[in-house]
Amino acid sequence: MKKTVAAGLLLSILLLLFTSCDIGTTPDNKPRSETWYEYFATVCTVQSFGEDTDENFSAVSSRVKTMLSEYHALYDVYHEYSGINNLKTVNDKAGIEPVKVDARIIELLKYGIELYDRFAALDKEGDTDLAKGAVNIAMGSVLKLWHTARAGVRAEDGTVSYTLPEAEALMLAATHTDISSIVIDEQASTVFITDSETSIDVGAIAKGYTAERIAEALMADSSLSTDGYVLNLGGNIRLIGTKGGEDWRIGITNPDKTSGEPYVKTVEASNTSIVTSGDYERYFTVDGVKYHHIIDPDTLMPATYFHSVTVVTEDSALADALSTLLFTLHINKAYALVTSLEGVEAMWVGTNGTLTATPGFPAVED
Ligand code: AMP
Ligand code: MG
Repeated sequence: MKKTVAAGLLLSILLLLFTSCDIGTTPDNKPRSETWYEYFATVCTVQSFGEDTDENFSAVSSRVKTMLSEYHALYDVYHEYSGINNLKTVNDKAGIEPVKVDARIIELLKYGIELYDRFAALDKEGDTDLAKGAVNIAMGSVLKLWHTARAGVRAEDGTVSYTLPEAEALMLAATHTDISSIVIDEQASTVFITDSETSIDVGAIAKGYTAERIAEALMADSSLSTDGYVLNLGGNIRLIGTKGGEDWRIGITNPDKTSGEPYVKTVEASNTSIVTSGDYERYFTVDGVKYHHIIDPDTLMPATYFHSVTVVTEDSALADALSTLLFTLHINKAYALVTSLEGVEAMWVGTNGTLTATPGFPAVED
């Protein structure tokens, strides 16, 4: 978690650095920023770079904080919150009974299921196993084993040791990942996981989905001015409007920490989302081999095609889901998928450091 926090901070700092060169010092367009550390196990920041006032910024940031705290509680699969049924409640009641939930839980689950169906449909249309690495929100049983392994075991002297999940346990868990076990009754506002061994994990989509809902709410509120705002939920970046009429410049982290180059590319963009999935923040090491947090449903092991995948598209929820999905696909399939989608661009950093990007990827030329 510390590594993610550091990475999130880095991104925030980067935005400020790029901005500090050309933003004036009048009170109306000074950069403003507020950061929270308690949501989605990461660093969440809202920043304002356009013409703004302290009053407007304070109203926007208080709206962001309220929404972050509500969505965080609803989508949390590890903790209970008094007075609400969240995704942990739904998981705890798997195989037992339907749970009455907030509409925002139903919307997220429907989104996850729709995406799964959509990419599976592409597969059925003949693109062989294009969707083989599909992001599956019903993969909680498998992901839990990796999550526990990543936490390690702390000895009395403070050292932490790590062991890999047992192959047998992974295979058994994989027999309980059928997404149709998640049964939604919209009329009754309930969710029921019909198999007691199946559980929901929305780690691949929740931050982007939340970022998009927040951006949407801010833009729809005519009492707020939101041009020139950046929402950064642990590296899930949602750019609202422009930076004083110009594009923002966002550095894409270099997964190779030893190279001395902090960024592999700089993106210039506005009114869009930039989301990266990578193997360099959440991982543990066993016998010199790194095991990260994005699991290929086919092998039940961390996907090995890339160090990172960055997706640029307006809808932050889609960007988040796709970056994880693309991470689990062979480059040929991943590239074909992205180019079949309108308004989506992507860049891959291969495990040998090779960069591949779709033609419209908005990187600044070196
Ligand atoms: P992201 O950082 O957005 O790429 O999402 C990574 C998170 O998604 C992990 O920490 C898991 O919670 C979850 N995850 C990993 N692999 C998968 C998968 N194949 N399908 C669904 N969720 C996954
Ligand atoms: Mg994701």
